[in-house]
Amino acid sequence: MNAHDSERIAGLLEGMGFKKAPTYEPKLGEPGLTPADVVVLNTCAVREHADTRLYGTLGHLAGLKKKRPGMQIAVGGCLAQKDRTEILNRAPWVDVVFGTHNVGSLPVLLGRAAFSNQAQIEIMESLQAFPSELPVRRAAEHSAWVSISVGCNNTCSFCIVPSLRGKERDRKPSEILEEISALVADGVVEVTLLGQNVNSYGVEFGDKQAFSKLLIQCGKIEGLRRLRFTSPHPKDFTDDVIEAMARSQVVMPHLHMPLQSGSNAILQSMRRSYRREKYLSILEKVRAAIPGVAISTDIIVGFPGETEENFQETLDLVRAARFSTAYTFKYSKRPGTAAVSLEGHLSPEVVAERYQRLVALVDDVSLQENRKQIGETVEVMVGSKSGSKDGGRARLSGRARDNRLVHFSANGLEGDIEPGDLVRVAVSECSPFFLIADGAITSHVKTRTRFNAGLNEIDRSPNSAVNLGIPVFVGS
Ligand code: SAH
Ligand code: SF4
Repeated sequence: MNAHDSERIAGLLEGMGFKKAPTYEPKLGEPGLTPADVVVLNTCAVREHADTRLYGTLGHLAGLKKKRPGMQIAVGGCLAQKDRTEILNRAPWVDVVFGTHNVGSLPVLLGRAAFSNQAQIEIMESLQAFPSELPVRRAAEHSAWVSISVGCNNTCSFCIVPSLRGKERDRKPSEILEEISALVADGVVEVTLLGQNVNSYGVEFGDKQAFSKLLIQCGKIEGLRRLRFTSPHPKDFTDDVIEAMARSQVVMPHLHMPLQSGSNAILQSMRRSYRREKYLSILEKVRAAIPGVAISTDIIVGFPGETEENFQETLDLVRAARFSTAYTFKYSKRPGTAAVSLEGHLSPEVVAERYQRLVALVDDVSLQENRKQIGETVEVMVGSKSGSKDGGRARLSGRARDNRLVHFSANGLEGDIEPGDLVRVAVSECSPFFLIADGAITSHVKTRTRFNAGLNEIDRSPNSAVNLGIPVFVGS
């Protein structure tokens, strides 16, 4: 969600005539120079670590600003919404502070700050217009995020999101479909639908099946090759969504469904209204309906009151659920959330030790699941042109249909393969975090021929015309 907001910010800045500056990685104690005239920090507040990083980075930018008078610094996103004037108190060299509902105001605020030489701050309590109406500079030409809703009506006791992003607001299905059609016309072949709780989509206009209907409608958009979504909530996960996923060739066989804890007592105290049995029964149904589906999740360790026994229940669930990936987080105390006042906050040592055990198990399960892929042929959507070299072998990377990261040998085709292309390769090795495919590319589909000159579909199987040296002409 945050990265998508950053694309909107980039789009607005481009509209003002700015261009992206080269990537700049500040190093502690080494101020260096960024050629940027404007630096925008789009912040996250989900965990405390982000707070510390914001103020550290701002301290660092103060030194740069002294060397480059006229450089402007803006802070947006969830921490801006949370800290408001405190940012200016702690870092008076900041020029603009804008809230999560004020992304569209950034150009005006930067202009005003430059003109008046005074910091500008704008934080609204609720959303006036969907950020999707703002211009966007996509990070990838072939892949795009599309917000279907913003905000969240849930009250998970650890979570700061509802207080910073507000109540759930749903976009009209027609608007979403129009946006996706326009993106596809602009060369996008993969879309990820975004929402804090995608499957409660429709709550605003009273349609409980709105999300599955949306999946089916999106799947009919010609030219869209891959559709993904994040994140669904187990409590709202209904059979019509599974059916829509199974029926549509375009909805990818991957489900990212946050678990948070495998203990019913902890789920209750987290105010997550499903239980471990329900979670596992969803996985069972999804696996029965969608062969080859990969399931990933989010887990929090060390929630207040978590006993060793509760933690063991999480480990058990991880063993049973066979996640392809799990994002693991140490519980972080967020101001204003209900969990802050719960009893039984754990010591950092206990949390760190459990965290290590969880990560070791998650990695082990991922490795075992990835090993099952060895020898399988997977369809990879190429991510970016930049590859890696391993022992002189050029590799490109992309995502399999089930969202596994795949590094594959380009076999001399690196000049011909573009981001968004689909290649079929056989998996030869793996780690817990990715698959490797070092064999031949057996087919290569150019998905964006209207945008890249080139052949449409190239059969690279051993007896194909290409491999036998016969010229091939395929219309585009
Ligand atoms: N809306 C999504 C989650 C958004 S936040 C959902 O409910 O699925 C992304 C992840 O951050 C959460 O799934 C949770 O695992 C983690 N998270 C949120 N608040 C946290 C906190 N206070 N401490 C640690 N992890 C947290
Ligand atoms: Fe936070 Fe829960 Fe809403 Fe997700 S569903 S954004 S974790 S309150």
